[in-house]
Amino acid sequence: MKRFFYCLLFLFTTSFVNAQKLKKAEKIVVANLQTHISYLAGDQLEGRRTGSNGEKLAYEYISTEFLKAGLLTKGDNATFLQAFEVNDGRMVTNASHLIINGNDLAIEKEYFPLSFSSNGSLTTVASIALQENGSPWFYDIKDLLEANKNNPHFDLVDAVKIKAADAAKKKATTFFIYNSSAIKDELQFDPKAKTIPSAIPVIYVTKIAKEKFLKDETASLDIQLKIEIVDKKRYGHNVIGYIDNNAATTIIIGAHYDHLGYGEDHNSLYTGTTSLIHNGADDNASGTAALIELSKLIKASKYKNNNYLFICFSGEELGLFGSKYFTEHPTVNFTTVNYMINLDMVGRLNDSTQGLNIGGYGTSPLWGQTLTANDKFFKIKFDSSGTGPSDHTSFYRKDIPVLFFFTGIHNDYHKPTDDADKINYTGEWMVMKYIFKLIEDTDKKGKIAFTKTRETAMSGTTSFKVALGIMPDYTFSGIGVRADGISEGKIAQKAGMKAGDIIVQLGNYKFTDVQTYMETLNKFNKGDATKVKVKRGNEELVFDIVF
Ligand SMILES: [Zn+2]
Repeated sequence: MKRFFYCLLFLFTTSFVNAQKLKKAEKIVVANLQTHISYLAGDQLEGRRTGSNGEKLAYEYISTEFLKAGLLTKGDNATFLQAFEVNDGRMVTNASHLIINGNDLAIEKEYFPLSFSSNGSLTTVASIALQENGSPWFYDIKDLLEANKNNPHFDLVDAVKIKAADAAKKKATTFFIYNSSAIKDELQFDPKAKTIPSAIPVIYVTKIAKEKFLKDETASLDIQLKIEIVDKKRYGHNVIGYIDNNAATTIIIGAHYDHLGYGEDHNSLYTGTTSLIHNGADDNASGTAALIELSKLIKASKYKNNNYLFICFSGEELGLFGSKYFTEHPTVNFTTVNYMINLDMVGRLNDSTQGLNIGGYGTSPLWGQTLTANDKFFKIKFDSSGTGPSDHTSFYRKDIPVLFFFTGIHNDYHKPTDDADKINYTGEWMVMKYIFKLIEDTDKKGKIAFTKTRETAMSGTTSFKVALGIMPDYTFSGIGVRADGISEGKIAQKAGMKAGDIIVQLGNYKFTDVQTYMETLNKFNKGDATKVKVKRGNEELVFDIVF
């Protein structure tokens, strides 16, 4: 499950072997769940981070299981796999270089571009002492550091940005900076920084390099420079299997199989300092295992009035990347999709409370007729919303009825301790049985109706003084915040904004991503009137709003 941004309250729960008497066939399913989860949540898979070798081992395992279950391939090129791109920040390419008087400087050790540097190349003659039109400028950040050494609000990067912009205005072609003071600066190339690039390259020359190559400030320097910063990509893979019953409608069952790896993407709640594998047994080897076993049961069943598509998503923990990609690049005719069931964290049923959370209850009138809180086994807690911190949200956004199964949050959530030995396997089988019964109940219902529901706050909007009423697209890699959806009756909709708009400015504040957008929102109070600037296709629009 994608990280909850709001504060979580949970009860400590222990899982006891359930006292249910199981038939032999059921015991086999339970044993299979154990096999799948032990493998998927084993250390060898290193936490199944999207694009990693652990993800590869996991998708190979799932593909083999799909083949054994008799599913048809519904990924790319007659395989079960559907690859998609994940933006992984930015990198400085090997083509980049800085040569001063014939000396090829070492990247990182002797120089590096700052994160907001533009790309560019030049061959020129320059001198540190001269700041001329059409030449590179050199700037010692010593004065900035010394003047602000007691200023806790001082932001060196911002200050350098302003100096660089000023130099560019005065026709400098490159802005070289160095630090001759004893005060340490923490400047570096940050691959994750998302900033609007400066007009000219901004290059940091380290102390070692300054001493070695730029000692004489009046000397003339032969400079050859090339800076090339590019987007870095990695690839996630959805695993997609199909049961073709020649039916007019298709039911989608989904579960994400990716997890946090070693926590490299900063979505872990683990606070220790040693790097540990996040095995993700409940999140979401549990849902993956249940999906594999459900595919076998459905394949062998007499319920043939729908086709079935089984999708194990990747990229979920990064922001629903895999499911979003699938809904935009479906491998079945999307108009035939009947409904979608999402299993995310179904392995921690508490045997004493027997609580099961089902989300998406409001997304079809049929759910109200079919599902009841008075289940023989579970104490069911319904949530009507079609959105939440998992992959069903992507389908709900495309007007597909959804149901989201979840056995509840626990102390090991998004920590290295989410391990296979803590799974309640019998409890998970009970969840599977419930879903199988639901499939039986809807087998002859045809295509079911869709209804819109309220939106669940995904990102702590409750803690904000003001809100626009947009659902940010967390997978958007451009500059600004792309609205995936617009809430009914809220400020953005009333102003005339539409889904797909990219918000780039609020009042005088520009921002680059969801994080900086949230920080910007915090600068406003209820009742403030301001303007919001958005990009819609090639147009730039400005709307007047009052918070
Ligand atoms: Zn998760």
